[in-house]
Amino acid sequence: MNEVVNSLFSWFRENARDLPWRNTSNPYHIWVSEIVLQQTRVDQGRPYYEKIILEFPDFCSLAAASEDHFLKFWQGLGYYSRARNMKKAALTVCEKFNGELPGDYDKILGLPGIGRYTAAAISSFAFNLPYPAVDGNVRRVAARLVGIQEPTGSKIADEKTEKFLREIIPVSDPGTFNQAMIELGALVCTPARPACDACPLSRFCFAFQHKKQNEFPVVTKKKKPVNLNLNFYFVQQGEFTWVVKRDNSGIWKGLYEFPCFEGDEQPPDFFAEGLTHSGNALLKSRIELKHQLTHRTIFARFWHFCLPESIIVHPNDCMKIKLEELNKLPVHRLMHRYMEQNEILREL
Ligand code: SF4
Repeated sequence: MNEVVNSLFSWFRENARDLPWRNTSNPYHIWVSEIVLQQTRVDQGRPYYEKIILEFPDFCSLAAASEDHFLKFWQGLGYYSRARNMKKAALTVCEKFNGELPGDYDKILGLPGIGRYTAAAISSFAFNLPYPAVDGNVRRVAARLVGIQEPTGSKIADEKTEKFLREIIPVSDPGTFNQAMIELGALVCTPARPACDACPLSRFCFAFQHKKQNEFPVVTKKKKPVNLNLNFYFVQQGEFTWVVKRDNSGIWKGLYEFPCFEGDEQPPDFFAEGLTHSGNALLKSRIELKHQLTHRTIFARFWHFCLPESIIVHPNDCMKIKLEELNKLPVHRLMHRYMEQNEILREL
């Protein structure tokens, strides 16, 4: 087993990417990087990591920020529950642990937004604790190295992966071990066409020895995403428009958007008498966007109505704002895409 670790470490020393969160043992910086990188590519997450630690240098400054302010920082990164959980976790660390992340795996795991992988990554990178960090990359590398026959993500496959890693993780430097395994999965042992010729572990690898790299990890078929039709109404009256803040428990909770209705029907005349989809002089444009989420395919239509001042508006629970204020509110990625396409909003 030592040979595996030695080969892995010398490869990592030569090939590791120079990433800002690798040159620090500051637990706050490591925590921010780990949350930002959940479900996010390194090149996409890096600028967010940098601007978050600049604007909010520690747990307590993040805890003190308003949710809207922080969500605005997060805009464009998706999976907004991460940002909301970061705020909650920062508050807990600030109030319960005097602003310092505790060097204790179970306490880290108990914070909002932290699962087993993230707790192990932070514990090992920041506190040198010997917990294997098993993300998608590591799961794949381990499945190929060991030849795990059970479907990846299943309880038994996870147990086998964990057992294998616990046997080889060096207590002297678990952080480097975890980083090296993750890096190997990201750069060499990639999902399609792993670069086995460049792999430091090929001579220990079950899949390579049996020429079965493409058969591991074993995967079960994914469920097809569900289709969802949404209609958004950008109703403009002079320099004003109306927005709503999502307050349900969906993925866009806490974000702003134009009033939205699900389904294919005509929109109700919720803003003003006589407001209809088509054949109406008040309708300025209609833009259709397809938006892919993990479990849903959204077919969105954005209706842009321009209302003269004479029309009386009754917008129920919507918030009236100046058009330029839209740029200051946190909006979800689909709204953001529309705002980039609408000629008026693009030029705000
Ligand atoms: Fe992955 Fe190939 Fe290395 Fe095995 S030899 S760990 S399949 S890159």
